[in-house]
Amino acid sequence: MSIDQNVARIRERIASAACRAGRNPDEITLMAVSKTHPPELIREAYDAGLRVFGENRVQEFSGKATPLADLQDAKWHLIGHLQSNKAARAAELFSAIDSVDSLKLAEKLNSSAQSLRKRLEVLIEINVGGEAAKSGLSPDSPELENLLNAAPGLDHLVFHGLMTIPPFTENPEDARPYFRQLRELREDIASRNLPSINMAILSMGMSHDFEVAIEEGSTCVRVGTSIFGERG
Ligand SMILES: *Cc1c(COP(=O)(O)O)cnc(C)c1O
Repeated sequence: MSIDQNVARIRERIASAACRAGRNPDEITLMAVSKTHPPELIREAYDAGLRVFGENRVQEFSGKATPLADLQDAKWHLIGHLQSNKAARAAELFSAIDSVDSLKLAEKLNSSAQSLRKRLEVLIEINVGGEAAKSGLSPDSPELENLLNAAPGLDHLVFHGLMTIPPFTENPEDARPYFRQLRELREDIASRNLPSINMAILSMGMSHDFEVAIEEGSTCVRVGTSIFGERG
């Protein structure tokens, strides 16, 4: 199957899942997760109509940004864990950082964005499964509170939602409680009307579980394998 055909099939599946949930498919962004894939394949995904791309590593995308610089309306998101010492480079390369998991990182990104005279969109990454090996803030942690409360002072960052990677489960249905938990956290935060905190985006769902994520309210599914095939 070509990338073009893969994208068409995924779009159909997104539409069906949205329909089951009584949602409008237009409110769900299909992000192409292009980590490990070369610029030529990313360009094919672009030609198939995709405009939002997710990369995991600053270093890797650094090498791909130049050959793809002509795709001016493509949006590049960092979705992998970011170390503070790479925040400045990440702020240059990406238009959005979807994996903000500490106040310290947010502060570094804010000052880097300020130097670059740009505004960076950010999502707060939540570790819904409480897994030690995963990054992300735990839903009821003081760290999350501190970050939310610091947002008004971080005026080069645009906080607009939450992201999560739930524990892997063979059966996508088993991920549902985690997706639901993220949606409830988002509703809870949104209801507090905190200054400079917008909760429009819920980034959850990958190749094997994006339909369940959509049924639970995802507004951005991050799909790699089902678009590009297995990573080498
Ligand atoms: C790799 C990755 C994905 C995509 O995973 P697939 O199973 O290939 O669709 C989504 N989100 C994050 C954070 C990833 O690292």
